[in-house]
Amino acid sequence: MNAPLSDRLAELRAPTHWQAVDFMSDLHLQAADPTTFAAWQRYLQGPPADRADALFILGDLFEVWVGDDVLTETGTAHEPVFLRHCADLLLGFSRHTPVFFMAGNRDFLLGVDALRASGMQALDDPTVLDFLGQRWLLSHGDALCLADTDYMRFRAQVRTPAWQTSFLAQPLAEREAVARGLREQSEARKRESAHDPALWADVDTAAARQSLQHAGAQTLIHGHTHRPATHDLGGGLQRVVLTDWDAAASPPRAEVLRLTAAGLQRRPLKTA
Ligand code: MN
Repeated sequence: MNAPLSDRLAELRAPTHWQAVDFMSDLHLQAADPTTFAAWQRYLQGPPADRADALFILGDLFEVWVGDDVLTETGTAHEPVFLRHCADLLLGFSRHTPVFFMAGNRDFLLGVDALRASGMQALDDPTVLDFLGQRWLLSHGDALCLADTDYMRFRAQVRTPAWQTSFLAQPLAEREAVARGLREQSEARKRESAHDPALWADVDTAAARQSLQHAGAQTLIHGHTHRPATHDLGGGLQRVVLTDWDAAASPPRAEVLRLTAAGLQRRPLKTA
Protein backbone atom coordinates (compact mmCIF):
# COMPACT_ATOMS: atom_id res chain seq x y z
CA MET A 1 0.00 0.00 0.00
CA ASN A 2 1.32 3.35 -0.94
CA ALA A 3 0.77 6.62 0.91
CA PRO A 4 -0.25 9.28 -1.59
CA LEU A 5 2.45 11.84 -2.21
CA SER A 6 0.27 14.79 -1.51
CA ASP A 7 0.31 17.77 0.80
CA ARG A 8 -3.25 17.10 1.71
CA LEU A 9 -3.22 15.33 5.02
CA ALA A 10 -5.54 12.37 5.47
CA GLU A 11 -8.13 12.98 8.18
CA LEU A 12 -10.59 10.80 10.00
CA ARG A 13 -13.38 12.36 12.00
CA ALA A 14 -14.57 10.11 14.82
CA PRO A 15 -18.34 9.57 14.98
CA THR A 16 -19.79 11.53 17.88
CA HIS A 17 -20.82 8.42 19.80
CA TRP A 18 -17.22 7.20 20.18
CA GLN A 19 -15.95 7.41 23.75
CA ALA A 20 -12.82 5.28 23.63
CA VAL A 21 -10.36 4.18 20.97
CA ASP A 22 -7.48 1.70 21.28
CA PHE A 23 -4.10 1.88 19.55
CA MET A 24 -1.65 -0.96 19.03
CA SER A 25 1.34 -1.56 16.78
CA ASP A 26 4.38 -3.75 16.25
CA LEU A 27 2.82 -7.06 17.25
CA HIS A 28 4.89 -8.77 14.56
CA LEU A 29 2.43 -11.67 14.52
CA GLN A 30 3.90 -14.88 13.15
CA ALA A 31 3.23 -18.59 13.52
CA ALA A 32 6.54 -18.97 15.37
CA ASP A 33 5.29 -16.81 18.27
CA PRO A 34 2.09 -18.42 19.59
CA THR A 35 2.36 -16.60 22.95
CA THR A 36 2.03 -13.13 21.45
CA PHE A 37 -0.71 -14.37 19.15
CA ALA A 38 -2.60 -15.73 22.19
CA ALA A 39 -2.37 -12.36 24.00
CA TRP A 40 -3.76 -10.62 20.92
CA GLN A 41 -6.53 -13.19 20.56
CA ARG A 42 -7.51 -12.63 24.20
CA TYR A 43 -7.76 -8.91 23.46
CA LEU A 44 -9.97 -9.50 20.40
CA GLN A 45 -12.19 -11.92 22.28
CA GLY A 46 -12.40 -9.88 25.48
CA PRO A 47 -15.72 -9.09 27.15
CA PRO A 48 -17.88 -6.43 25.45
CA ALA A 49 -17.65 -4.19 28.54
CA ASP A 50 -13.87 -3.88 27.99
CA ARG A 51 -14.13 -2.88 24.33
CA ALA A 52 -13.24 0.47 22.85
CA ASP A 53 -15.37 1.96 20.07
CA ALA A 54 -12.62 1.48 17.49
CA LEU A 55 -9.26 -0.23 17.13
CA PHE A 56 -6.37 1.49 15.37
CA ILE A 57 -3.50 -0.75 14.30
CA LEU A 58 -0.54 1.52 13.53
CA GLY A 59 1.64 -0.85 11.52
CA ASP A 60 3.66 -4.02 11.78
CA LEU A 61 0.69 -6.10 12.86
CA PHE A 62 2.43 -8.91 10.99
CA GLU A 63 6.10 -9.88 11.11
CA VAL A 64 6.04 -9.90 7.34
CA TRP A 65 3.43 -9.66 4.59
CA VAL A 66 4.55 -10.75 1.14
CA GLY A 67 1.25 -10.45 -0.72
CA ASP A 68 -2.49 -10.96 -0.24
CA ASP A 69 -2.37 -14.26 -2.13
CA VAL A 70 -1.23 -15.93 1.11
CA LEU A 71 -4.90 -15.75 2.11
CA THR A 72 -6.26 -17.51 -0.95
CA GLU A 73 -3.47 -19.97 -1.62
CA THR A 74 -4.86 -23.46 -1.02
CA GLY A 75 -1.78 -25.01 0.59
CA THR A 76 -1.47 -26.12 4.20
CA ALA A 77 1.89 -24.47 4.88
CA HIS A 78 2.14 -23.26 8.46
CA GLU A 79 2.47 -19.51 7.87
CA PRO A 80 -0.41 -19.01 5.39
CA VAL A 81 -2.73 -21.05 7.61
CA PHE A 82 -1.72 -18.86 10.57
CA LEU A 83 -2.26 -15.63 8.59
CA ARG A 84 -5.69 -16.80 7.42
CA HIS A 85 -6.59 -17.50 11.04
CA CYS A 86 -5.52 -13.93 11.99
CA ALA A 87 -7.65 -12.48 9.17
CA ASP A 88 -10.66 -14.53 10.31
CA LEU A 89 -10.29 -13.29 13.88
CA LEU A 90 -10.06 -9.67 12.70
CA LEU A 91 -13.11 -10.11 10.50
CA GLY A 92 -15.10 -11.41 13.47
CA PHE A 93 -13.92 -8.53 15.66
CA SER A 94 -14.70 -5.95 12.96
CA ARG A 95 -18.37 -7.01 13.00
CA HIS A 96 -18.78 -5.18 16.34
CA THR A 97 -15.81 -2.79 16.40
CA PRO A 98 -14.35 -0.87 13.44
CA VAL A 99 -10.70 -1.69 12.80
CA PHE A 100 -8.36 0.77 11.07
CA PHE A 101 -5.07 -0.40 9.63
CA MET A 102 -2.01 1.70 8.85
CA ALA A 103 0.84 -0.16 7.16
CA GLY A 104 4.22 -0.57 8.83
CA ASN A 105 7.55 -1.37 7.26
CA ARG A 106 6.88 -5.12 7.64
CA ASP A 107 3.34 -5.27 6.29
CA PHE A 108 3.17 -2.41 3.76
CA LEU A 109 2.26 -4.94 1.05
CA LEU A 110 -1.01 -5.74 2.78
CA GLY A 111 -3.50 -4.78 0.10
CA VAL A 112 -7.18 -4.38 -0.62
CA ASP A 113 -7.91 -8.12 -0.74
CA ALA A 114 -6.44 -8.69 2.72
CA LEU A 115 -8.19 -5.60 4.07
CA ARG A 116 -11.49 -6.94 2.82
CA ALA A 117 -10.81 -10.45 4.15
CA SER A 118 -10.06 -9.07 7.61
CA GLY A 119 -12.69 -6.34 7.77
CA MET A 120 -10.12 -3.57 8.15
CA GLN A 121 -10.21 -0.04 6.78
CA ALA A 122 -6.95 1.39 5.44
CA LEU A 123 -5.40 4.53 6.89
CA ASP A 124 -2.75 6.64 5.18
CA ASP A 125 0.47 7.29 7.05
CA PRO A 126 0.12 9.84 8.56
CA THR A 127 -3.54 10.39 9.37
CA VAL A 128 -5.10 12.98 11.65
CA LEU A 129 -7.77 11.58 13.92
CA ASP A 130 -10.31 14.18 14.99
CA PHE A 131 -11.63 12.86 18.29
CA LEU A 132 -12.78 14.42 21.56
CA GLY A 133 -12.46 17.90 20.10
CA GLN A 134 -8.73 17.43 19.45
CA ARG A 135 -6.54 16.45 16.55
CA TRP A 136 -4.27 13.41 17.06
CA LEU A 137 -1.55 12.68 14.53
CA LEU A 138 -1.17 8.94 13.87
CA SER A 139 1.81 7.37 12.13
CA HIS A 140 3.75 4.14 12.06
CA GLY A 141 6.90 6.18 12.70
CA ASP A 142 9.47 4.75 10.31
CA ALA A 143 9.16 7.68 7.89
CA LEU A 144 10.27 10.01 10.69
CA CYS A 145 13.47 8.12 11.55
CA LEU A 146 15.49 10.38 9.29
CA ALA A 147 18.94 9.49 10.66
CA ASP A 148 18.70 5.96 9.24
CA THR A 149 19.55 7.04 5.73
CA ASP A 150 20.06 3.47 4.43
CA TYR A 151 16.57 2.57 5.55
CA MET A 152 15.06 5.79 4.16
CA ARG A 153 16.54 4.95 0.76
CA PHE A 154 15.20 1.38 0.96
CA ARG A 155 11.79 2.68 2.02
CA ALA A 156 11.59 5.12 -0.87
CA GLN A 157 12.35 2.28 -3.27
CA VAL A 158 9.94 -0.35 -1.96
CA ARG A 159 7.04 2.08 -1.67
CA THR A 160 7.02 2.80 -5.41
CA PRO A 161 4.27 1.13 -7.48
CA ALA A 162 6.95 -0.16 -9.92
CA TRP A 163 8.88 -2.02 -7.19
CA GLN A 164 5.69 -3.43 -5.69
CA THR A 165 4.31 -4.62 -9.03
CA SER A 166 7.52 -6.42 -9.93
CA PHE A 167 7.88 -7.92 -6.44
CA LEU A 168 4.29 -9.17 -6.33
CA ALA A 169 4.73 -10.76 -9.77
CA GLN A 170 7.23 -13.22 -8.30
CA PRO A 171 6.05 -16.61 -7.03
CA LEU A 172 5.06 -16.66 -3.36
CA ALA A 173 7.99 -18.89 -2.35
CA GLU A 174 10.47 -16.45 -3.90
CA ARG A 175 8.86 -13.50 -2.16
CA GLU A 176 9.11 -15.37 1.12
CA ALA A 177 12.80 -16.01 0.50
CA VAL A 178 13.43 -12.32 -0.25
CA ALA A 179 11.61 -11.34 2.96
CA ARG A 180 13.68 -13.82 4.99
CA GLY A 181 16.89 -12.38 3.52
CA LEU A 182 15.87 -8.82 4.36
CA ARG A 183 14.96 -9.84 7.89
CA GLU A 184 18.31 -11.54 8.44
CA GLN A 185 20.11 -8.42 7.23
CA SER A 186 18.10 -6.25 9.58
CA GLU A 187 18.70 -8.62 12.54
CA ALA A 188 22.43 -8.58 11.83
CA ARG A 189 22.46 -4.78 11.75
CA LYS A 190 20.54 -4.68 15.02
CA ARG A 191 23.07 -7.02 16.65
CA GLU A 192 25.96 -4.85 15.45
CA SER A 193 24.46 -1.72 16.96
CA ALA A 194 23.04 -3.44 20.07
CA HIS A 195 25.91 -2.23 22.25
CA ASP A 196 25.20 1.39 21.44
CA PRO A 197 21.60 2.57 21.79
CA ALA A 198 22.61 5.89 20.24
CA LEU A 199 22.96 4.05 16.92
CA TRP A 200 19.36 2.87 16.91
CA ALA A 201 17.36 5.11 14.69
CA ASP A 202 14.71 7.09 16.50
CA VAL A 203 12.06 9.57 15.44
CA ASP A 204 13.62 12.89 14.54
CA THR A 205 12.42 15.52 17.00
CA ALA A 206 12.38 18.43 14.55
CA ALA A 207 10.48 16.34 11.99
CA ALA A 208 7.96 15.27 14.64
CA ARG A 209 7.37 18.90 15.69
CA GLN A 210 7.02 19.99 12.08
CA SER A 211 4.52 17.22 11.29
CA LEU A 212 2.46 18.13 14.34
CA GLN A 213 2.43 21.82 13.43
CA HIS A 214 1.49 21.03 9.84
CA ALA A 215 -1.36 18.82 11.09
CA GLY A 216 -2.57 21.30 13.70
CA ALA A 217 -2.21 18.54 16.27
CA GLN A 218 -0.55 18.43 19.67
CA THR A 219 0.05 14.72 20.08
CA LEU A 220 1.81 12.32 17.75
CA ILE A 221 1.03 8.64 18.41
CA HIS A 222 3.35 6.15 16.71
CA GLY A 223 5.11 2.80 17.00
CA HIS A 224 8.02 1.28 15.09
CA THR A 225 10.89 2.21 17.42
CA HIS A 226 9.95 -0.33 20.11
CA ARG A 227 10.74 2.34 22.71
CA PRO A 228 7.47 3.06 24.51
CA ALA A 229 7.59 6.48 26.16
CA THR A 230 5.96 9.88 26.23
CA HIS A 231 8.25 12.66 25.02
CA ASP A 232 7.57 16.32 25.69
CA LEU A 233 8.50 18.15 22.47
CA GLY A 234 7.99 21.61 23.94
CA GLY A 235 5.38 24.19 23.02
CA GLY A 236 2.56 21.92 24.18
CA LEU A 237 3.52 19.18 21.70
CA GLN A 238 4.17 15.57 22.64
CA ARG A 239 5.15 12.28 21.08
CA VAL A 240 3.62 9.10 22.50
CA VAL A 241 5.32 5.86 21.49
CA LEU A 242 3.51 2.53 21.52
CA THR A 243 5.18 -0.61 22.78
CA ASP A 244 5.98 -3.54 20.55
CA TRP A 245 4.53 -6.90 21.63
CA ASP A 246 6.47 -9.91 22.84
CA ALA A 247 4.31 -11.86 25.25
CA ALA A 248 7.01 -14.51 25.69
CA ALA A 249 9.61 -12.01 26.93
CA SER A 250 10.18 -11.44 30.61
CA PRO A 251 8.59 -9.21 31.56
CA PRO A 252 6.06 -9.76 28.78
CA ARG A 253 5.22 -6.83 26.51
CA ALA A 254 1.62 -6.54 25.27
CA GLU A 255 -0.51 -3.49 25.76
CA VAL A 256 -2.90 -1.16 24.04
CA LEU A 257 -2.97 2.59 24.41
CA ARG A 258 -6.51 3.71 25.14
CA LEU A 259 -7.70 7.24 24.44
CA THR A 260 -10.79 8.55 26.24
CA ALA A 261 -11.96 11.89 27.60
CA ALA A 262 -9.75 11.07 30.62
CA GLY A 263 -6.67 11.06 28.38
CA LEU A 264 -4.21 8.43 27.20
CA GLN A 265 -3.81 5.30 29.27
CA ARG A 266 -1.54 2.30 28.71
CA ARG A 267 -3.41 -0.93 29.36
CA PRO A 268 -1.23 -4.00 29.81
CA LEU A 269 -2.94 -7.13 28.54
CA LYS A 270 -3.06 -10.52 30.17
CA THR A 271 -0.29 -12.62 28.69
CA ALA A 272 -0.92 -15.99 30.32
MN1 MN B 1 8.16 -0.93 12.12
